[in-house]
Amino acid sequence: MPLVSSKSLLDSAFRENYALGAFNANNLEYVQGIVEGARAEASPVIIQASPGAIAYLGIDYIAAIVKVAAESVPIPVVLHLDHGKDLDIVAECVKKGFTSVMFDGSAYDFEENVRLTREAVDIAHRKGVPCEGELGKVPSSDRNWTREELEKLMTSPEEAREFVSRTGVDSLAVSVGSVHQMKEKAAELDIDRIRAIRSQVHVPLVLHGSSGVSDESLARAVKAGICKVNIATLLNMAFSRAVKDTFAREPEEIDPRKILGPARDAVASVVAERIRLLGSSRKAG
Ligand SMILES: [Zn+2]
Repeated sequence: MPLVSSKSLLDSAFRENYALGAFNANNLEYVQGIVEGARAEASPVIIQASPGAIAYLGIDYIAAIVKVAAESVPIPVVLHLDHGKDLDIVAECVKKGFTSVMFDGSAYDFEENVRLTREAVDIAHRKGVPCEGELGKVPSSDRNWTREELEKLMTSPEEAREFVSRTGVDSLAVSVGSVHQMKEKAAELDIDRIRAIRSQVHVPLVLHGSSGVSDESLARAVKAGICKVNIATLLNMAFSRAVKDTFAREPEEIDPRKILGPARDAVASVVAERIRLLGSSRKAG
């Protein structure tokens, strides 16, 4: 079916207490693997592109590939901008047919984050596109973070309420203990904080950095109110491992289809497995 907006899909997840997987795509094989995994589970799916992936692929390529992928399957597919760091990329993605965007103003102080996010929301809403904001900081795994340091970066429930009402965001990414780009499931989520934010904020909550979170903790986070879970590092690990396995078996292989085909299948199986954990199987309607 044609690309759909994330708005009604996330609102359904919010009402029915499950989460949608938002999977970062880096090339054609990722996009095909993501829709195949979601199709196998009859689940709606969000395919997202970071500014880095957009720079690598070209915005017209990623928009065209995901549009064709969506039209080839009978499930709702969203094309989402992940971590838009300035208003220009938000405007560009909206213009190129993205059906959901994120503006990440978490590097700024509260007032500046509110001001810029409000502008991003206006840009997106003018074209009927929903916008995710971020409050609190989800750091990157470039060093080890102590629990105290992570707690200082976490989202305050009271500020979250003010942020959502002043910006008009459709969904909110929160900092609750996860860290970006973690290759081991060693992060502990603050489930009580998710519940506290959920009680203050009436839009779907988003978890970034899920690859470092245990399956049990992730399932509890969804029960507590997380409605969108971003998944990038797990896909990168599965894709790369499949390529390495192929070369370990066939060091002289030069056929790209035999190198990238198994990597595409590996992406599809991680996507299906995450969807089952998040509870969105058979929610394609
Ligand atoms: Zn993120």
